[in-house]
Amino acid sequence: MIPIAKPYLTEDEAQAAYDTILTGWITQGPRVQEFEEKFANYTGANYAVAVSNCTTALHLAMIVAGIGLGDEVICPSMSYIATANSITYVGALPVFAEVNPSSYNLDLVDVEKKITNKTKAILLVHQIGMPADIDAFSALCKRYNLKLIEDAACAAGSSYKGKKIGSHSELVCFSFHPRKVISTGDGGMITTNRKDYYERLKLLRQHGMSVNDRTRHESNTIIFEDHVEVGYNYRMTDIQAAVGIKQLEKLDWIVNERRKIAAMYHEALKEIDFIRLPTEQEGYTSNYQSFSIYLGQNSPVSRNEFMQLLLDKGIATRRGIMTTHRETAYKNLNINLPVSEDLQDRSVILPLYVPMPEKEVNYVLNSMLEILKVKQRPVVVDA
Ligand SMILES: *Cc1c(COP(=O)(O)O)cnc(C)c1O
Repeated sequence: MIPIAKPYLTEDEAQAAYDTILTGWITQGPRVQEFEEKFANYTGANYAVAVSNCTTALHLAMIVAGIGLGDEVICPSMSYIATANSITYVGALPVFAEVNPSSYNLDLVDVEKKITNKTKAILLVHQIGMPADIDAFSALCKRYNLKLIEDAACAAGSSYKGKKIGSHSELVCFSFHPRKVISTGDGGMITTNRKDYYERLKLLRQHGMSVNDRTRHESNTIIFEDHVEVGYNYRMTDIQAAVGIKQLEKLDWIVNERRKIAAMYHEALKEIDFIRLPTEQEGYTSNYQSFSIYLGQNSPVSRNEFMQLLLDKGIATRRGIMTTHRETAYKNLNINLPVSEDLQDRSVILPLYVPMPEKEVNYVLNSMLEILKVKQRPVVVDA
């Protein structure tokens, strides 16, 4: 069975977790601080704050950006549901805009149409690792006096115009869930260039406590903490951070390996006119967190048939990225987004992980071609 994804974890990560446990300090402490410094350094951001996952990262980003009750935030419906949920958590309304059919990222024209006097921010997703046009959205936000928040859950290691994702704007949120390119089990990170945001994020992730455990632990004078506002327990543990430090060292290599596999998919499928492949614009580098293809109207097999036939050959696939507005939790908004709906219904995510042996990539490709060719024969007639 060829899986859809698999985290790249080795003895290094296991050893780091083991060593951390034996230090006796297992929750947020020195390893978290080291991971944050290294992650900030890697992305080129001034600061990084580690949290329990990307959903909590987004929640805190909404709070520090000042989003609250009655505000509107524009985001794609076509994203993992956590994108919209982070807006809902603070009492604001997610306003869903369409995405561009070739990048799966927010459509600038549709976003501008959806700006009202209640709009406070745009939550820009770098979908499945493909950078969105940060400069264009940043200019739009300036024009309408909106905050720009980046949901870079899938985009660790991707870059935009020569700089790593994480360095471009005020609030960028990452995920280290096993389905992303590097993992700490669960985990998240927020990068920011603003010192005031950095300070507040550190407070909010730890119950609003004025002194962190480690400072109190290491102090030789007694310290009494204050809880300066209502915060959360969104901490990452030192065990996770130790794993994250090892993963981060491999990130560029992992991205490079993923890109080689993506290049093989591209090369083999580029001539098929009914398949649309992901495309990188000049200056955009994807980490290919996922490789999603779109089966056009003239495809000889339906998307679901295609997935089933691949599964019959031992190849796991997933349907395209979800559309949040069609999930029960958001159905009451009662909206239609024809482009996003069509994309979800006709796209398929192919297996891609590191290390994926070349013969497996070829097996996936040959199986795909066989399925598509067999069905293309005019002799195949449905009863
Ligand atoms: C995975 C994902 C999230 C949620 O990340 P977690 O770390 O699992 O909370 C949010 N947004 C997008 C776009 C994602 O793909």
